[in-house]
Amino acid sequence: MATDKIAVTRETFDNVILPVYAPAQFVPVKGQGSRVWDQQGKEYVDFSGGIAVTALGHCHPALVETLKKQGETLWHTSNVFTNEPALRLASKLIAATFADRVFFANSGAEANEAAFKLARYYAFKKHHAYKTKIIAFHNAFHGRTLFTVSVGGQPKYSDGFGPKPADIVHVPFNDLEAVKAVIDDHTCAIVVEPIQGEGGVMPATPEFIQGLRALCDEHQALLVLDEVQSGMGRSGKLFAYEHYGVKPDILTTAKALGGGFPVSAMLTTNEIASVMAPGVHGTTYGGNPLACAIAETAVDIINTPEVLNGVEARREEFVAALNEIDSKLHVFNGIRGKGLLIGAVLKPEYASRARDILNAAAAEGVMILTASTDVIRFAPSLVIESADIKEGMARFARAIEKVLFA
Ligand SMILES: *Cc1c(COP(=O)(O)O)cnc(C)c1O
Repeated sequence: MATDKIAVTRETFDNVILPVYAPAQFVPVKGQGSRVWDQQGKEYVDFSGGIAVTALGHCHPALVETLKKQGETLWHTSNVFTNEPALRLASKLIAATFADRVFFANSGAEANEAAFKLARYYAFKKHHAYKTKIIAFHNAFHGRTLFTVSVGGQPKYSDGFGPKPADIVHVPFNDLEAVKAVIDDHTCAIVVEPIQGEGGVMPATPEFIQGLRALCDEHQALLVLDEVQSGMGRSGKLFAYEHYGVKPDILTTAKALGGGFPVSAMLTTNEIASVMAPGVHGTTYGGNPLACAIAETAVDIINTPEVLNGVEARREEFVAALNEIDSKLHVFNGIRGKGLLIGAVLKPEYASRARDILNAAAAEGVMILTASTDVIRFAPSLVIESADIKEGMARFARAIEKVLFA
């Protein structure tokens, strides 16, 4: 029987969806590459990438082909049975990284939940029951489960949901002395984003990440890198840790892993994985063949010199366009980030206008993001065309002029 289609609009959202989001006033219905169309047929350049997710743009032909092929083959088995796409994807992630073992889940939060549980469990099994302290950072973002939101460094996301998991300490990001002051032999892990995403597109310094690695070694703690946003080519390397010359003990990846299909992974070493046993952790959908087949195709395409080497060139186009806007309008206090995770920091006098700029950009036909309170964030497709960057930036410039100077 055919499903009845009912008419829905942006207004429907306010009546049917839990009010935890404030979506834009238009409803996207179609995407191709770095362009998106709404219900009225209006076209947008997509600089948001579904928050660093659609790293190969919308409806990439290879991803669509895999989706169709696997969709006609096998969707789901549960972990009572293993499956070929999951085994292939895990093998490829291991070949490309420090890792020996992979755990699949469905979202960034779940990959991090698994990582934090593993860090606690490893300390419990290998050291002692009171080695439970997790060190994390102000403005960090690790997801919305109760554990991940508690490790995250923005109390506004965890307040009101208590009692919160205990023995989590937050110190300033990029401040090695602050970590030294709180780390001890009761510390089981340091959890850090190599580039803070939601917190304001702030890269860690090399000294900081290298210093964290040394402190972890000194105190037999695990270095957990949250690469949910910075991974999968976003920084110009497959994973951002490759820029720093250190290896993590545990790494999580999600957003772009499936190029838009929900899938995430936690990577670790044989030594750390050895404390786990059947039944200790798990998830019904984790390693779902449909998700893993699509992610395998995404990894095959992203983990190539063509795509990875193109990231820096595209970043330069973005930064040049942003500098040109700034030389005329004087609105930014610097451009930061790495690769195609780009933050344009608004001058203090415009800091409260980030949301207005985002809305004006949509009106002009370009989708952008914010991060923190005062940063305009760009997380476009890693293969965005120059013509799309030019057109999107022209629209963005008009939006800024209209909203701030009209
Ligand atoms: C988005 C994000 C998460 C959470 O991922 P979800 O898929 O929303 O659960 C965790 N960590 C970082 C760094 C992120 O950017």
